[in-house]
Amino acid sequence: MTRGGTTGPRLRRSRRGPSRRWMLLGACLEAPDLPWLADRASMADTTKMRAVCAACPVRHHCADYADAAGIVGGFWAGRARWDVSAQIDRVS
Ligand code: SF4
Repeated sequence: MTRGGTTGPRLRRSRRGPSRRWMLLGACLEAPDLPWLADRASMADTTKMRAVCAACPVRHHCADYADAAGIVGGFWAGRARWDVSAQIDRVS
């Protein structure tokens, strides 16, 4: 996606922290029937979500956000975060 001569959305920091306006551009908004926030998903749904994320214009923002927030559930930026939760369980 090209906006104003740059690739991807322009993000600004506000006094309250980094902008989350990128969320409004997520490709997942066009696929609301998929289990984006579930703790588990079928292989078929996981494949569909991975494909949606692969074409998402804000995937890198999404990955940065999920990493920074320490999210351990749902499906973010092409990756199942419940896998992260399982890894934490194994370590602790
Ligand atoms: S990368 Fe995937 S989960 Fe993240 S905003 Fe895009 S479509 Fe949604």
